[in-house]
Amino acid sequence: MQTIPVGVGDRVFVLTGAGISAESGLPTFRAEDGLWAGNRIEDVCTPEAWELNPGLVWQFYSARRAAGAAAQPNPAHFALAELEGRIGDRFFLCTQNVDDLHERAGSRRLVHMHGELNKAHCEDDCGRPPVEDHALYQDLAEVGHCACGARLRPHIVFFGEIPLEMERLEREIKRATLMVVVGTSGSVYPAASFVHWARRNRARTVYIGPEPPLNAEAFTQVVEGKAGAVMPGLFAVE
Ligand code: NAD
Repeated sequence: MQTIPVGVGDRVFVLTGAGISAESGLPTFRAEDGLWAGNRIEDVCTPEAWELNPGLVWQFYSARRAAGAAAQPNPAHFALAELEGRIGDRFFLCTQNVDDLHERAGSRRLVHMHGELNKAHCEDDCGRPPVEDHALYQDLAEVGHCACGARLRPHIVFFGEIPLEMERLEREIKRATLMVVVGTSGSVYPAASFVHWARRNRARTVYIGPEPPLNAEAFTQVVEGKAGAVMPGLFAVE
C-alpha cells in the first residue's frame, strides 16, 4: 500500500475539488460532459446568468443546498480532518467545493475559495460580510435583501469572478513543503496553477484520484483510486 510520508518539518497544503465529495453522492461536473447536475454552467454559474435570470440561479443553488444537507462526509473528508488533528497548524486546507462536508468531518483550518452554499451576499458587493442562509428558494420574491437594499445572491464565486482569499492562499502555498491535491480535474484556474506554484518552492506534490488530472505532469506522486477508498491510513505522520 502506498503512503504519503509527513515529516516533523513538513507543512501541508491540501487542495480538494468536486471529486472528494463524489462518494458522498454529490455529482462532479466534468463527469457529465460539462454539466453540473444536469445544468449548463453558463445558465446557472456566471455573472451573466445572474443578470439574466436570478430566479433560476437561486433555484439551482437551492437544489445544491438540499443535496448538500442530505449528504454525509465520507472517509476522505475524515482522513484530512484526522491529519489536521495530528499536525495542527502545519496543516492548511483549500477547497474548491461549496458544500460543507469538510467542516462536518472536523476540518477547521480551511478556506472555501469558490464560496459556500449555505451563505448569501449582497449582489452589489457593498462590503458587508456574507450572511448564513440555508433557505430553499423557489421564487425570487422570497429572497432577502442586504441592509443596503440590494438583493442577496448565493455566496458562490461564479465563473469569471475572482476566487476568495487569494493572498492568504498564496502565502500558505509559499510556505508549504508538501501539496496534496484530491479529486480535481486541473481545468479550473487559478486552482489548477497551485501545483506549479508549489513546485517552484520545491514542495513535494501528490495527486489523489481515479484518473490523472489535466496537469498530471506537475505531480511528483500520484495515488490512483477513489479518495474515500485510498485516503484512510494514507498519511504516515512522523
Ligand atoms: P470537476 O468536476 O471538474 O472534476 C472532478 C474530478 O474528480 C475529476 O478529475 C475526477 O477524476 C475526480 N473524481 C471523481 N470521482 C472521484 C473520487 N471518488 N475520488 C477522487 N476523485 C474523484 O471538479 P473540480 O475540478 O473541482 O471543478 C469543479 C468546480 O465546480 C469547482 O470549482 C466547484 O466549486 C464546483 N463544484 C462543486 C461541487 C461541490 O461542492 N461538491 C460539486 C460539483 C462542482
